[in-house]
Amino acid sequence: MEYEAVIGLETHVQLKTKSKMWCGCANAFGSDPNTNVCPVCLGLPGVLPVPNEEALRLTVLTGYLLNCEIPRFAKFDRKSYFYPDMPKNYQITQYDKPSTANGFVDFEFNGSIHRVRITRAHLEEDVGKSTHFDRNSGVDFNRAGVPLLEIVSEPDITGPEMACEYLNALKEILLQGGISDCDMEKGMVRCDVNVSVRPVGTTSLGAKIEIKNMNSFSGVRRALEYEIPRQIAVLQSGGRLIQSTRRWDDVAGITEQMRTKENAHDYRYFPDPDLMPSVPTDEWLAAVQARVVELPLARKQRLIRDYQLPAVDAEVFKSNLPLANYFEPVARQSKNPKLVANWVINNLLSKLSETAIRPEETGLLEGAPATTPLKGADALADLKFQPQALLQLLALLESKTISNSAAQVVFAEMFDTGKNPAAIVQEKGLAQVSDTGAIERFCDDVIAANPGPWADFQSGKSAALNFLKGQVMKLSKGKANPAVVGVILEAKLKA
Ligand code: ADP
Ligand code: MG
Ligand code: ZN
Repeated sequence: MEYEAVIGLETHVQLKTKSKMWCGCANAFGSDPNTNVCPVCLGLPGVLPVPNEEALRLTVLTGYLLNCEIPRFAKFDRKSYFYPDMPKNYQITQYDKPSTANGFVDFEFNGSIHRVRITRAHLEEDVGKSTHFDRNSGVDFNRAGVPLLEIVSEPDITGPEMACEYLNALKEILLQGGISDCDMEKGMVRCDVNVSVRPVGTTSLGAKIEIKNMNSFSGVRRALEYEIPRQIAVLQSGGRLIQSTRRWDDVAGITEQMRTKENAHDYRYFPDPDLMPSVPTDEWLAAVQARVVELPLARKQRLIRDYQLPAVDAEVFKSNLPLANYFEPVARQSKNPKLVANWVINNLLSKLSETAIRPEETGLLEGAPATTPLKGADALADLKFQPQALLQLLALLESKTISNSAAQVVFAEMFDTGKNPAAIVQEKGLAQVSDTGAIERFCDDVIAANPGPWADFQSGKSAALNFLKGQVMKLSKGKANPAVVGVILEAKLKA
């Protein structure tokens, strides 16, 4: 019998707020342990939580970005359990009345657009972080009470690769929407993977197995690549799967059982008596809606449509918002947006990566820390030349005043110094020679100096033409118009 995988993800994302969810402590990564703490986030008795309104706004904004409904009534509940890094012994979360529900994410996968439905995105709080040393353990409560969004997907994902593409799409939306910095290395995105298998052609769901607390997308892929065949093998050998929770061992590359449904937690959810329900007004919702940005996939499709960009170029702009924001106003002023895209991606972006402290700061590298694509905004704001100068450079290129190789030189110079392209052309004498008389003299000199290759060319060896052209270009110091050189050499052959 053939089996297929059914996957649903619960993705936890730290919200980009200045302070924590219920107190004024800094929401900051990398401080000394237990320096961003107070009686509220340390869970001391008798304190009162005060909701962070920006966290509520970011939650509802996420709802809009993920095409969710925004209920007019949401509340906070206590989810009771004990863990050393959670001093209150309950986590505040949204149980049956979340702030957003019933949305979807569209993303590209295998050449078409796929949709994963979003059950809900609800607001909760992060817990502290335990570190285990040789002989003892430490708990850092800096993370306790950091606002955390949980985004629950429907079981619409069918395989490991699709799970990664969904996560990438989600991350891009949240990053560009200003919801979270999504820095995986700082633990800002973590995910629980729910997976079952069922015979192909059936519709009921198999026993759900949850792999807890994954902190990298590649980990999610590898865990699924291990877990799916494992489940299929159990069923094929006549075994039975039961609902359970497993842990991924990244070093061994296997999943291991943690607990089964029989000893699952009873969280005893109940409404938090210290917190008022969230009842957003029309005005409040409108202010949040005003912060909705264009979704990355929609932008990619629009760039392809409006500027006839190739998909690969539009993809670069999709995942690099600052670069896209730089490109568009320039492209609108140009008759050749494709050429603009070419120069922005191939020349500007590579110059930025050369000069960046880390190449991934441009967001060019795949898998680069997620905060970095937006950092490229600083580099673009600090450019020494104006967008107008780029347009001038391209005009010089298109009018064949300068050759493509000369344009590279001009670009490097204007990138370094901010000088005007026409001035650089003048100063360096880079204007292309299209004057046939001058080029003909270069050709004659080259033919005279290279009788062998000229004979080869005459006897029909086309490789010799390239050699001769190269010599003419060299003699003209790169200024001869290569097309004119070719025409003249061919003409001399027939003469
Ligand atoms: P729980 O109440 O245990 O958290 P939910 O029904 O809320 O379980 O589902 C949690 C996640 O598991 C969701 O992302 C959902 O899509 C996914 N899920 C539920 N049932 C299955 C299943 N049988 N196989 C795979 N994923 C599932
Ligand atoms: Mg769950
Ligand atoms: Zn605090």
